[in-house]
Amino acid sequence: MSSQEWSPESWRDKPIQQQPEYPDAAKLAHVEQTLASFPPLVFAGEARELRRQFAEVTEGRAFLLQGGDCAESFAEFSAAKIRDTFKVLLQMAIVMTFAAGCPVVKVGRMAGQFAKPRSSGNETQGGITLPAYRGDIVNGIGFDAASRVPDPERLLQAYHQATASLNLLRAFAQGGFADVHQVHQWNLDFIANSALTEKYSQLANRIDEALAFMRACGLDSAPQLREASFFTAHEALLLNYEQAFVRRDSLTGGWYDCSAHMLWIGDRTRQLDGAHVEFMSGVGNPIGVKVGPSMDGEELIRLIDILNPDNDPGRLNLIVRMGAEKVGEHLPRLIRTVEREGRKVLWSSDPMHGNTIKASSGYKTRDFAAILGEVKQFFEVHRAEGTYAGGIHIEMTGQNVTECIGGARPITEDALSDRYHTHCDPRLNADQSLELAFLIAETLKQ
Ligand code: PEP
Ligand code: MN
Repeated sequence: MSSQEWSPESWRDKPIQQQPEYPDAAKLAHVEQTLASFPPLVFAGEARELRRQFAEVTEGRAFLLQGGDCAESFAEFSAAKIRDTFKVLLQMAIVMTFAAGCPVVKVGRMAGQFAKPRSSGNETQGGITLPAYRGDIVNGIGFDAASRVPDPERLLQAYHQATASLNLLRAFAQGGFADVHQVHQWNLDFIANSALTEKYSQLANRIDEALAFMRACGLDSAPQLREASFFTAHEALLLNYEQAFVRRDSLTGGWYDCSAHMLWIGDRTRQLDGAHVEFMSGVGNPIGVKVGPSMDGEELIRLIDILNPDNDPGRLNLIVRMGAEKVGEHLPRLIRTVEREGRKVLWSSDPMHGNTIKASSGYKTRDFAAILGEVKQFFEVHRAEGTYAGGIHIEMTGQNVTECIGGARPITEDALSDRYHTHCDPRLNADQSLELAFLIAETLKQ
């Protein structure tokens, strides 16, 4: 923590990156007050439960699956979309749990993943330059001057969408939809004829058999089979939004950011003396930090010590996003430093953000082979170092999109334009996500 006392607004005295410039400060302040008067989205006790589960992962007894949109959007907001992404996450989790015998902690990039850091503050098209799109919580994606003006009202809309999304996710997780007896129902219709679905159906049949056996023994009524535990997370980028949801836990007196169970700091906003690190150092949630190839070992230890001074195994998730070309070079040195200094962290792999390329057609895409390549190397490096590869953090959707090239039912560069719907980065579709889950299950089994 910084020299001065932490408070929910102490970040305001620090240098800050990647924030929108609102034209009307009074309107913004009014919205911030309104948000702070609203009920929070999650309860501190839930965040503590996720910390307990993170500790299980850090100690090598469970695996973390984190996934969802790069950017949620106001236009693409429907029960069907939430349901289908949730279905794919359930499928991926059951594949890993059943095939590898490993408990899976499930966290959605959902119900609040709206704000985007950008590599440039401006965007130029056809000779016209406008402020960059920063996510629907900030401004509009349309390429016209009016859309790109940051509007505080969007913070309120994002809050309302997040609450409705979380409400539905809670209903799905606890109301019977995620009951493992429904394992066949989680298959999505549009991937009915793929080799992956066939593989999934076979696994589901084996689960049915196991459940029939347990029923015969009188053992199939455990709540763990009837309900899923599911958590939400997003990048804590807009600190005024996050500050509005910082509440004191009535049970422990500690501060929690109750906008989501878990929050993470992006690779562009992780400066040691910056506002984001200051803010996150004082909330009790489990937190993540993205770790790109520019991270230096000594810097990483200092960051760990600011964010996790008690060396609690459930507190800090390092989300490694190096790219398939670089992970083999940079990950071993960082693991060695962390091990040498005895710091306890949950290592997970984000194989998306270091593997973004531009297709010849101009689309931003990612090659499924590079994504798999980074995940494989992430596991190999950990094996070689004797450390635990604890999780995966991916951008994916249950929609039948064509955004990443490759996969078992390959998407070609030419096909990208068919169903390219993302508001920011390209996501894995259901087929590609399932393929990745089977690969990870194989690796976890070894
Ligand atoms: C993201 O997760 O969408 C993101 C922007 O990641 P990073 O901070 O790793 O670039
Ligand atoms: Mn992204």
